[in-house]
Amino acid sequence: MDPLLTSNEAALALRVSQKTVLRLIRSGRLPAEKVGRSWRIRASDLPCNRSPGISDVVYLDDNASNPMHPAVADAMTAAMQNLSGNASSSHTAGVLARTAVEDARGQLAELLDVAPSELVFTSGATESNNLFLRGFPYATGKNRVVISAGEHASISEVTHELQAEGIIDLSVVPLLSSGQLDLEAFAALLDDKVAVVSIVGANSETGVISPLAEVVDLAHGVGAVVHSDVTQLAGRTDLNLADLRLDAVSLSAHKMNGPQGVGALFARRSLLRRLRSLNVGGGHENGLRSGTYNTAGIVGMGLAATLAANPADIEHNQRMRDLLQRQLTTIPDVVVHGAHSQRLPNTTNLYFAGAPGDIVLARTPEVAASIGSACHAGAIDPSPTLLAMGLDRDVSSSSIRFSTTRFTTATEIEKASQAVLKTVLEVRAQSQEVA
Ligand code: PMP
Repeated sequence: MDPLLTSNEAALALRVSQKTVLRLIRSGRLPAEKVGRSWRIRASDLPCNRSPGISDVVYLDDNASNPMHPAVADAMTAAMQNLSGNASSSHTAGVLARTAVEDARGQLAELLDVAPSELVFTSGATESNNLFLRGFPYATGKNRVVISAGEHASISEVTHELQAEGIIDLSVVPLLSSGQLDLEAFAALLDDKVAVVSIVGANSETGVISPLAEVVDLAHGVGAVVHSDVTQLAGRTDLNLADLRLDAVSLSAHKMNGPQGVGALFARRSLLRRLRSLNVGGGHENGLRSGTYNTAGIVGMGLAATLAANPADIEHNQRMRDLLQRQLTTIPDVVVHGAHSQRLPNTTNLYFAGAPGDIVLARTPEVAASIGSACHAGAIDPSPTLLAMGLDRDVSSSSIRFSTTRFTTATEIEKASQAVLKTVLEVRAQSQEVA
């Protein structure tokens, strides 16, 4: 998918004036097509929209945060300029802002195929996960929670805290070496004391997709509520909550080409009514999320939802990811984690033997990707997901996650793979010299 942009959208993406864009077009430096009286520019022809602000870098870190769609930036700018009333105020400025918030709620509800009243706007998936797991009404004798070993920290940390506080009894389902959830082990952990099952929709590091339909069947069989952190799935795949029968999900706008700092929690109405808020105050969002609405952010999330999960984008991402993976595996001793599992269309996580990921990335500044592990005070922690797949500490702390964006081009993949391969071969040669 290569969106066609207006000159205004191109100007926003490039952070220049529309006049400058028109000058670039007229001087032949920016290819464009005349449609009627205006110009249309291919997103892939923009020099920097894939990596705002760092024009020479190939941005392959979509799973960390993806580039904002120019139309979303445009809508947010308009919202910031025109909708500065408090969405809870009863005067016209407030009503206009509230209307925009409710329109966005409708747009998001449509993407997920749920009722708008079942959505709560939050500051992101971290807050949604915390709100759901902390706010859930656990009962004595039914307070078991089951998560997987491949959860984001905002699930694993909060559940470990709840366990330490004596509120829940936590079980963690192991992963198979393929990166998949161990469904047999999962089934064996279920009983009628399980209140909540929370299984990530897709692992952010390997991209491996969880078998959510089977998880729902098994968990509902013992009367458990099923929550999923679908942050990486929403917008990248055709996610339909009505089909999946999930009871609650968390998601985030900046994984759908929307803004950072805004997200949502979906929960069935009967469940939402029983959740307890994390913060008290003005009672916004039916008492579940006090705090003035982030109107512009919510407008951006709503529009991003309407532009997300487009089949052409999904296919484009997969083509770019496959091309990248093919190029990067043309040298020996490269392992693709989770290669044989169903994965997000944009993600590939690779281990280059003899070339630690942090060194490779540090020496390849023209590529933005991540090592699948957190870096605390200069020390590299091994990735819990890769460790859970049975990989050793060395592999788990030196693999690289590449994640393409809907705007990634084949030229960028070519540039990135050549740069990474060159560095990997240099690092390998140097370590041989030292040995
Ligand atoms: N869950 C998953 C699976 C994620 O990948 C992320 C972001 N990396 C989060 C939750 C946190 O999302 P947010 O930044 O919106 O808090």
